[in-house]
Amino acid sequence: MSGRPEVLFPLFGALTALEGIGPKTAQTLENAGTSKPRDVLMTLPLAGVDRRRRASVRDVIAPETVTVEVTVGRHYPPKTRGRPYRVHVTDAQTEFQLVFFHARGDYLQRLLPTGQRRLVSGKVEIFDNVAQIVHPDHVVLPSEAEDIPAFEPVYPLHAGITQKLMWKATRAALQMAPDLPEWIDPALKAKESWPDWRDALTQAHNPTTPNDLSPDNSARQRLAYDELFAHQMTLALARSVSRRSKGRPSQGTGALQKQVLAALPYKPTGAQTRAVAEIATDLKSDHRMNRLLQGDVGSGKTLVAFLALLCVVEAGGQGVMMAPTEILARQHLEGLQPLAQSAGVRLEILTGRDKGKERAAKLAALAAGEINVLVGTHAVFQKDIVFHDLRLAIIDEQHRFGVAQRMELGAKGAAVDVLVMTATPIPRSLALAQYGDMDVSVLDEKPPGRTPVKTALVSTGRMDEVVEKLRHAVAEGRQAYWVCPLVEESEIVDMTAAEERFKRLRAALGEGVVGLVHGQMPPAEKDAAMARFVAGDTKVLVATTVIEVGVNVPNASIMMIERAESFGLAQLHQLRGRVGRGSTASTCLLLFQPPLSESGRRRLEILRETEDGFRISEEDLAMRGAGDVIGTAQSGIPRFRNADLERQAGLMALAQSDARKFLHDDPTLKSPRGEAARTLLWLMEQDKAIRLISVG
Ligand code: ADP
Ligand code: MG
Repeated sequence: MSGRPEVLFPLFGALTALEGIGPKTAQTLENAGTSKPRDVLMTLPLAGVDRRRRASVRDVIAPETVTVEVTVGRHYPPKTRGRPYRVHVTDAQTEFQLVFFHARGDYLQRLLPTGQRRLVSGKVEIFDNVAQIVHPDHVVLPSEAEDIPAFEPVYPLHAGITQKLMWKATRAALQMAPDLPEWIDPALKAKESWPDWRDALTQAHNPTTPNDLSPDNSARQRLAYDELFAHQMTLALARSVSRRSKGRPSQGTGALQKQVLAALPYKPTGAQTRAVAEIATDLKSDHRMNRLLQGDVGSGKTLVAFLALLCVVEAGGQGVMMAPTEILARQHLEGLQPLAQSAGVRLEILTGRDKGKERAAKLAALAAGEINVLVGTHAVFQKDIVFHDLRLAIIDEQHRFGVAQRMELGAKGAAVDVLVMTATPIPRSLALAQYGDMDVSVLDEKPPGRTPVKTALVSTGRMDEVVEKLRHAVAEGRQAYWVCPLVEESEIVDMTAAEERFKRLRAALGEGVVGLVHGQMPPAEKDAAMARFVAGDTKVLVATTVIEVGVNVPNASIMMIERAESFGLAQLHQLRGRVGRGSTASTCLLLFQPPLSESGRRRLEILRETEDGFRISEEDLAMRGAGDVIGTAQSGIPRFRNADLERQAGLMALAQSDARKFLHDDPTLKSPRGEAARTLLWLMEQDKAIRLISVG
């Protein structure tokens, strides 16, 4: 594809091209992440202030923003330093004061000459029984009344940027905005009565009532849709490129699966069987598979993954399963090894810790096709790793990888089928945002025999009591996790907190009873600590969130989470999912540091009410912004500037089906609407998508 369309050049040019924006202001804006006119245009107001003119401030219920015409009275410069400068003014009905701190008298004399009329606008407050406006937002001549908008947009601000500046910059950017060809489906646009792109921007930046700022406003809907549609076009392009690339059909015989199922002490759930069948169908076809396996913690994704891997082994190929951490990779190995042996399948592990001769031997066995299934960390995707015949790659706990990384993985193995697994149940609109390029299998049924986890909220003030209870539980042979608080985003601080708690619990419960794992430990030590807990040698495992995903110790039936209020809901749900895996009744204690905020309490209460991951995720989305739901740092969810995934959830589904259909009808984006869609992709900086078009 050729470069950025010329019509967009001004919007991607320098900020200083905007009227009234000099190099210094441009720098300030740039520091706040607004580096070009396009960014200014896409920064929509959050709120609005009513600045319609009134006759008087007399009946105002302060504090309230008011615009009135006044006659300027006497000036009262401060008698002592640090006191404010006051100017008395009179409107149609009453007298009040304008108040300025650190003001220059000569400037105020020029701004507000005694005896003259001015229009002032600002927030009226009552101080010492006197109505006053501190630092009015606007002071203009009555003849310049139109300089004060009747309803003034309020923009999100960063340090050093004022509303006035945003107002000026957005006006100038609107002047510069070109008319763009329409990329939205004409029928959809007509049905929704959406304005053209440029009109939508003009309206969104010039709200006239609070209603104009609501997510249902047609201009804002259209602009949100543009963003979502661009994103879904990117995903749909990725999907169509990967579907177009031929896969290797892998037709399993069922022989190995049969042996493994016979060796299993339980039967697969209906959902597991269904998911395996869906995957087998993909593997058999000559399309390349790009599928998501979504299932709450404990829903049994590992078995599904292994049966899928056996399918390609039966067909004579190899498979690889990648976990996000070393601990999880080892646990997969240990859990799967007996099953692999029962089927005579060679399973090996490869992680960053494999070095030297041993590593070389594994690589050789892999290249010779002697290893059938490899599990490991991202080390399995290093350059020097060569498979004899890799057919299936499985990525566990996908929420740690974003769309971008997934696309890179797709680019790597030419015909490799890809299955990603996530334990994070997310609301549909987010699932579409994050996984819109994939087909989805859902494990919506938990294996039988689980006992619900009893969840309680306990204040840290009752720590001694909690430790005492823990001592009793340990005496009864129970095992417990103790998760330490997430103090800021620093592993070092987490570590200190965990070590501190470890020492105290060891002092209280006895030497050898308590173990410790955290991210900063040397890997071998971490494994050893983990292994002692799995074997039941240690009864209490103090940990940072390294145990968050996947770890499976069925005998552990107590989960303590310290400073639970500092964790995200999804994370708490994940952590709690580590217990309730055996047949004994499990307990989860959410230890909180009082006082809890209103929303903090509400969040913890949701966990107490339900174990349904989907419900929790919906509540989470309702209470926080979309970007935060999964924990921004780890989420693969793109940040949308203006689309509101909660309140405009319907738009995402619309964007996905529209994008898929559109690409189906015009795969090379050659029609006029296709050309327009390219412009949209450039406008939305979807460079990944732009590259995919060039590929296709
Ligand atoms: P997750 O989906 O969280 O990765 P796992 O695959 O770790 O779940 O499975 C959780 C536990 O459930 C494991 O101990 C596993 O052996 C067990 N399990 C899986 N499938 C079944 C089943 N169909 N019936 C009984 N137990 C099962
Ligand atoms: Mg798992």
